[in-house]
Amino acid sequence: MGIKKVGLNRNVKPQSLVEKIFFLDFMKGLKTTIKHLFRKTITVDFPYEVSTPTIRFRGVHGLRNVDGTEADDFNSWIKKLKIKPPEMGETRCIACKFCQAACPVPELFTIKAEKLNVPEDHPHHGLKVLSVFDMDLSKCMFCGLCTQACPTDCIIHTDVYDLSSYTRKSWVLNKEELSRIADDFIARRGKEKFDEKSKWRQDQQIWPDYDTPRAKAWDGWMPSYTPNYINTQKGTNNSTESQ
Ligand code: SF4
Ligand code: SF4
Repeated sequence: MGIKKVGLNRNVKPQSLVEKIFFLDFMKGLKTTIKHLFRKTITVDFPYEVSTPTIRFRGVHGLRNVDGTEADDFNSWIKKLKIKPPEMGETRCIACKFCQAACPVPELFTIKAEKLNVPEDHPHHGLKVLSVFDMDLSKCMFCGLCTQACPTDCIIHTDVYDLSSYTRKSWVLNKEELSRIADDFIARRGKEKFDEKSKWRQDQQIWPDYDTPRAKAWDGWMPSYTPNYINTQKGTNNSTESQ
């Protein structure tokens, strides 16, 4: 049995005197670094500088208000859910909870609607208004499913990404805060994201309509609460029950 040489690779050509004197290997290694020295910097000195994410960025959520750009079926959703027709500037949310049903972490939402306390002869008798809409963003994975499920294009992602805080409580945003975030986003970048009927521009969809495999997978799917989730909400513990 012959002796096998291990260790140094004998095929490597030794460095010439010129290469040794001018550190040519070292300079080759630095080539990429030197190239980037003369290019425009793409990093920012956060938090002193902030970058503007692309319009498809899935940042902090916002709740849109009625602004006259609602889709044609907006009124039929309001009627269906017996919600008081919102005035200009009031929330588009109809408390349908589709966003919560589509969310992989539904407990991060608290959504409540209350019946209006008005006399029987009042035109709004028997109708409801959104009373609570809280989102605990510390539990959110920013997947965007809630925004896709919303029938009124109310809940959206914005380009806000700075959620740092000293308390967990500050990650729970209520409807007023969410509305403020959406208003600010729409004023700055609404035209980039939505068409005149407030639908997302096709190229700005998280999942574009031409994504047929996804459309097929969702075909016939209707948001509904799983028995597990309903039981958790009622305080019972029946986690073995299947959907
Ligand atoms: S982005 Fe995803 S995890 Fe966050 S609230 Fe929406 S559906 Fe839930
Ligand atoms: S899906 Fe839209 S309209 Fe329905 S509760 Fe969520 S935010 Fe409101």
